[in-house]
Amino acid sequence: MRVRITLACTECKQRNYNTMKEKKLHPERMENKKYCPFCKKHTNHKETK
Ligand SMILES: [Zn+2]
Repeated sequence: MRVRITLACTECKQRNYNTMKEKKLHPERMENKKYCPFCKKHTNHKETK
């Protein structure tokens, strides 16, 4: 089952990415290293509800 999730920067809390994840493979909150245009660098992005 694929669900839509939002990834928010853990430093500035901006929601920068909408993506899909496989809930079976990642039942918990995902954390990805992605580029944040507000911090102007790569930061950890955490799944939000
Ligand atoms: Zn940021």
